[in-house]
Amino acid sequence: MAGATRRPVLVTGGAGYIGSHTVVELLQDGRPVVVLDNLCNASAESLRRVERITGLPVPFVQGDVRDAALLDDLLARHDIGAVLHFAGLKAVGESVARPLEYYDNNVTGSQVLLQALARADVRRFVFSSSATVYGDPESVPIREGARTGPTNPYGRSKWFVEMMLADLAEADGRWAIGNLRYFNPVGAHPSGLIGEDPSDVPNNLMPFVAQVAVGRRAQLSVFGSDWPTPDGTGVRDYIHVVDLARGHLAALRRVESTPGMFTVNLGTGTGYSVLDMVRAFERASGRAVPHVFAPRRAGDIARCYADPSHAEQLLGWRAQLGVDAMCADAWRWNCRNPDGYRGAEEAGSV
Ligand code: NAD
Ligand code: UDP
Repeated sequence: MAGATRRPVLVTGGAGYIGSHTVVELLQDGRPVVVLDNLCNASAESLRRVERITGLPVPFVQGDVRDAALLDDLLARHDIGAVLHFAGLKAVGESVARPLEYYDNNVTGSQVLLQALARADVRRFVFSSSATVYGDPESVPIREGARTGPTNPYGRSKWFVEMMLADLAEADGRWAIGNLRYFNPVGAHPSGLIGEDPSDVPNNLMPFVAQVAVGRRAQLSVFGSDWPTPDGTGVRDYIHVVDLARGHLAALRRVESTPGMFTVNLGTGTGYSVLDMVRAFERASGRAVPHVFAPRRAGDIARCYADPSHAEQLLGWRAQLGVDAMCADAWRWNCRNPDGYRGAEEAGSV
């Protein structure tokens, strides 16, 4: 097996939603991993589930990407070949209320990590950025060259890291950096063993819809019915988390072969409205999703979807899974784990 001789990939934030799905794809591709996560928004149960899906061990270091000494020690112990950097905070509203925490975790965290990687001579790096760096797009579909201009501290924290990475790639040609701008990740692994596990009331549409369908919440508030979109509700580019995870594998192959920095959108290229997604979830679950119309949410935009053609040209990757699979897999995860990973932890299962 080719993977047997491969150097491990360091996955920061690997116990989280997108990271855990990516660890599955890495292991199934024959790549050993080391996960670093401080568990501020995750449970180590997710990694036990990954071990169950893959039948392979997931070495785990509990720690913070801002801890330089811990990073030096980790990099000395493991022969890391590349890094996928998911660790960070991601709640837009919270970032408005607590901007310094977001700049510290997301910007300083990335800087401390990059400095440690330079010391250890590890210069293959893939970064979790976001379509939020585009702010309110002038037109859709959005290409990578579109104007950027995030409208909240979370988005700006991603944007600052993007600029730090561009400066680094410019200054030192040994770096190979993939900058991935995700659109709206949804869904779960088809096994029903891992998925999105919001610790509080979900801010995002699909985890909220799932919790309504499963009976944990009474109804969905649809934020705005007067947007300039076909049915008046907001339009987004929802991408299955397994497709997104596979995008990381493609990005990893690129940074392993080619120095310099690239930026790609990871989206499907198709926009769906809030009501489209509610109907898709109702189809997949066979349950009603009661909803009421509510005022627009502050800071929201009408529509946001990717032109994903650059990722296809550069990486040979494109999303394969449609909204029905996204909803069916999210539903399976929610039915089997109505309390997320907490239920399993309390029952001491797995
Ligand atoms: P998540 O919260 O599930 O995962 C992030 C992980 O990072 C968590 O496990 C958390 O415990 C860990 N973490 C946070 N700060 C850390 C630190 N300082 N040191 C070590 N570990 C730390 O979120 P996710 O949805 O899996 O997102 C992963 C990445 O993708 C994030 O950087 C996020 O900003 C980005 N992103 C997410 C979305 C989305 O909608 N989910 C969209 C675009 C970009
Ligand atoms: N949305 C909604 N009700 C909710 C959560 C979200 O109507 O409880 C809408 C939101 O206004 C947007 C879409 O669903 O049009 C996607 O929102 P989400 O927060 O998931 O993603 P983002 O806005 O960050 O792209």
